[in-house]
Amino acid sequence: MKIVVLKFGGTSVGSTIRIKKVAEIIASYIKKKYKVIVASSAMSGITNDLVKKAKEISNDFLADEYDVLVSAGEQMSCSLIAGRLNHLGYKSRSWLGWQIPILTSGAHSASRIQKINKKNIISYLKSGGIPIVAGFQGINSQNRITTIGRGGTDASAIMLAKFFNAEKCIIYTDVDGVYTTDPKTISKARKIKIISYEEMLEMASLGAKVMQPHSIQDARLNRVNIDVRSSFIKSSGTLITKRKNISNNKIIRGVSFTKNDAKVTLIGVKDKPGIAAAIFEPLYKNSINVDMVVQNISSNGKETDLTFTIKSEDLYKTERLLKKNKKISFRKIIVDNKVSKVSIVGVGMVTTPGVTYRMFNALAKKNINIIVISTSEIKISVLVNRKNINKAVSALHKEFNLEN
Ligand code: ADP
Ligand code: ASP
Ligand code: MG
Repeated sequence: MKIVVLKFGGTSVGSTIRIKKVAEIIASYIKKKYKVIVASSAMSGITNDLVKKAKEISNDFLADEYDVLVSAGEQMSCSLIAGRLNHLGYKSRSWLGWQIPILTSGAHSASRIQKINKKNIISYLKSGGIPIVAGFQGINSQNRITTIGRGGTDASAIMLAKFFNAEKCIIYTDVDGVYTTDPKTISKARKIKIISYEEMLEMASLGAKVMQPHSIQDARLNRVNIDVRSSFIKSSGTLITKRKNISNNKIIRGVSFTKNDAKVTLIGVKDKPGIAAAIFEPLYKNSINVDMVVQNISSNGKETDLTFTIKSEDLYKTERLLKKNKKISFRKIIVDNKVSKVSIVGVGMVTTPGVTYRMFNALAKKNINIIVISTSEIKISVLVNRKNINKAVSALHKEFNLEN
């Protein structure tokens, strides 16, 4: 069987007009003799609305019930797609996670797909049907509905491609590929024809929303090639694949950024073994993700200053947890909710000297102050004042010749 997995994101199924267009795209693959498995997101805005409703009902909504709620949007869009295909004369039906089933493990809202049962879908495909699978959802060993993280339909599609040994996995979205930076913010962004899993994973983790980071980990582990395309316009997309398939490795492949960071500085922390662990333990236990961390060397050997970043939405909770933490003492806490992180990503930086200097110099020339720096093998991130973020992205995009 020649199988293709097609994923449609929120904007691609955002209205009944868009869903009619999606049905045409699906039909075009059927005409090319493919067996098609579709993974669909909820219509854009629906999941956000469900999240908002949960918050209005309770700030302590039970995790298992929360997943039942927020996964509901996918049921709607899948049925609408199947309905349109039926209207056009095709055999099609929706498949919810529990009906296949798609088995997941891990905590609610952050589960990962472990296994997809093939039997039901294979016999449906053999009967000429087009299965429209609800993305983002699965079930756990207790038979409860789970979700796999925001933007998770990307991972649903990749795992479907893996388990059904699909020839292609195509991610249809509202841009025609992965760009050197967000094309909706920076008009000089350029489409990338081919990108490695490693670079895409960094770009996604550092803010390029076009692909969900976990989905790239899944693709890399299972060697699933991904084609990112537009459901709006006909044009070639981006291939995400293993590094070996790529010949022209640029020094820097792209610039990613986030706009929802906050910075916390603890001044005058008593410097003793175990102090950093004591600060971060309650944050970890409350699922607050700490990103960049810098500890200043204490001048007197007794006290130190510690700065770290978190997501803006976690700032209030973080401050509260720090202030009531009896295991630590500090003189002062300073918070800043108006910072952003900009990162350059590229495998080429491993072998090219001077990248760090060029990055810092390009920002300095634009008078942009660097607040915190963090690096890994293939990325350098800096924290800047949020008002400078677009200027910083443009400057770096130009510095590393990404405009051509
Ligand atoms: P979908 O609903 O199809 O899953 P998303 O909104 O999750 O789509 O992702 C697509 C969006 O990602 C684009 O509209 C674009 O603004 C944003 N984006 C951010 N960085 C990039 C990038 N480097 N390349 C392409 N798109 C990007
Ligand atoms: N509907 C879910 C979300 O908005 C999953 C997805 O769109 O991929 O996060
Ligand atoms: Mg998405």
